[in-house]
Amino acid sequence: MAQSFLISPDTRVRLSDYDPSYAGGYKRKADTKDELKRNVERLRELQEVMWAEGKHALLIVLQALDAGGKDGTIRHVMRGVNPQGCQVTSFKVPTEEEMDHDYLWRIHKATPRRGYIGIFNRSHYEDVLVVRVHQLVPQEVWQARYEQINHFEKLLAASGTTILKFFLHISKEEQKERFAARLADPRKNWKFSLKDVKEREHWDDYTRAYEDALSRCSTPWAPWYIVPANHKWYRNLVISQIVADTLGKLDMRFPSPLPDADKIVIPD
Ligand code: AMP
Ligand code: MG
Repeated sequence: MAQSFLISPDTRVRLSDYDPSYAGGYKRKADTKDELKRNVERLRELQEVMWAEGKHALLIVLQALDAGGKDGTIRHVMRGVNPQGCQVTSFKVPTEEEMDHDYLWRIHKATPRRGYIGIFNRSHYEDVLVVRVHQLVPQEVWQARYEQINHFEKLLAASGTTILKFFLHISKEEQKERFAARLADPRKNWKFSLKDVKEREHWDDYTRAYEDALSRCSTPWAPWYIVPANHKWYRNLVISQIVADTLGKLDMRFPSPLPDADKIVIPD
C-alpha cells in the first residue's frame, strides 16, 4: 500500500483531488482478504499488550457522510479485538443535558482510558459539520471551534492518547447506490432513512465543511486520513493497516515477568 492518505498539517484540502474509488491496484475483495486478516490479527496482538500494559490509549475517530461506511468499518476492522478493551461511542443529536454544556463535554467523557481503544462513530467534528451546514449556531461560534478542537486533541495526546481520524470518502453516486440497496433489501430497510435522503441535498455544503475541517484540524498530534471508501474492502484494508502500523510504533510491552514465578506454589 504505497499511498499514505495522511493529510499533512496546513494542507488546503480539495476533496475533488481525491478519488473515492481508488483501490491501490487491487481489483477485488478477494485480493485483499489475506492482508486484511493479517492486519486484524496484528491488531489483536497489539491490543492485548496495550491492555496488559495499561499505559497508552488509542482514539479512532470515524467521520463520513451518510452511508459512508462507519458501521461496516467498525465491524470489519475491529473484529479481532477483545471487546473488553474496546469502547464504541456513537454521537447523535445532542440531548438536552448535552446541549446545556459546551460541545466538548460529552466528547471528553467518552475518551478512552489508558489500555483502551475508543472508537467515535461521529464525533466533535459534527459541531463544525452538521452544525455549520444547518446553521445551528452563529458563524463566529463554529469558526472558533477548529482551534478549540486542535487544543482539545493536543491535551488528549499529551495525556497518553494516540489519535487517528478517518474521513471515509465516498462519491455522490456511491451514496445513491447504497441508499437504493437499503431500500431494495427488506433486511436492510431499517438502515434507510428519509432524513439521509434530505441531507443529500446539502452534499456540496458538507463537502466544503469537510474540506475546512480536514484542512484546519490535521495536526501532528491528531492527523486526518482521507480514506477512499467506494470499495468497502479497500477501505477496511487501509484503515486496518494504519491502525496496526500506528500501534506497532508505540513502545508497548507486557509488564515484566514475575521474578520468581517458578517458585510460587499454588496450593491444591
Ligand atoms: P446516525 O449516525 O445515522 O445515527 O445519525 C446521527 C445523527 O445525529 C446525524 O444526523 C448527525 O448529523 C446528528 N448529530 C451528531 N452530532 C450532532 C451535533 N453535535 N449536533 C447536531 N446533530 C448531530
Ligand atoms: Mg444515518
